[in-house]
Amino acid sequence: MDEADKVWMNGTFVDWSDAKVHVLTHALHYGTAVFEGIRCYETKHGAVVFRLQDHVRRLLNSAKIYMMPLPYTADTIVQAVKDLVRVNRMNECYIRPIAYYDYGVMGLNPLSNRVSLAIASWKWGAYLGEDASKRGVRCTVSSWRRIDPQTLPPQAKSSANYANGVLAKIEAVKSGYDEAIMLNSIGLVCEGTGENIFRVKNHCLTTPPASAGILRGITRDTITQLAADLNIDHRYLDISREELYTADELFLCGTAAELTPINEVDGRKIGDGDWPVTRRLQSAYSDAVHGVELKHSQWLEHLR
Ligand code: PMP
Repeated sequence: MDEADKVWMNGTFVDWSDAKVHVLTHALHYGTAVFEGIRCYETKHGAVVFRLQDHVRRLLNSAKIYMMPLPYTADTIVQAVKDLVRVNRMNECYIRPIAYYDYGVMGLNPLSNRVSLAIASWKWGAYLGEDASKRGVRCTVSSWRRIDPQTLPPQAKSSANYANGVLAKIEAVKSGYDEAIMLNSIGLVCEGTGENIFRVKNHCLTTPPASAGILRGITRDTITQLAADLNIDHRYLDISREELYTADELFLCGTAAELTPINEVDGRKIGDGDWPVTRRLQSAYSDAVHGVELKHSQWLEHLR
């Protein structure tokens, strides 16, 4: 990975190589961590962190679901993220805050352990490959079902949830695909392993509702607002497996993946490679994050 100078750990900046935890850290054994993935973009007015307040709000909600007492306020975390990007002298980067039950007592009850917060930033290019945003990615429907809300809360962005996604990702990659699409426990489309999914059919944009068991993506929310700006008809609607195969366009979206077209699902070609709705949204998203279009300037958090 592309190492940066400093990592913010519990209120202080430490050297990248010193940002360490004990091997008996609770979260390492039991998945008791919640985290965020955020991007900082270069604009002509300097670096901005995209929708930082929304990411911090989701981090606090994830912690609340797990009854994890975060020892920092939202304002402190927002400021720490900005300070870190400045200290690391980065114009564009990925930012990963992670709150975790730290070293102390073993066993499943985490409540007497200290809660720590670390924030790292590094340069991270296109998550699904350099030319993925142009050429699209090949996907397969996973044999692993997405975690059910009765088993683990999908709206908490917790490390534990990602074990499910990791299994699906490994299966997809080992079978020669770029990414897995996961169905929920009743067989409806849920999301990618680290992205939400959108479908275009007859010029109408749909994405599974929160009740499908998705993580409520901040990019997904951005896209629905941009679709409204562009007068693209859009709905929250369940998608079935066969509706993936018959889509005019499909794309994945997330902070890391941004907007990535899907060019194939299980051997079925999606669209003709033009993907006009996806292209319009990709360009609107790029303009929004880079501060070219300032209609939603409240999404752009300047470093000072
Ligand atoms: N679903 C899952 C499972 C994810 O890991 C992510 C990435 N955080 C998303 C959806 C997209 O969320 P966001 O747009 O907030 O990055």
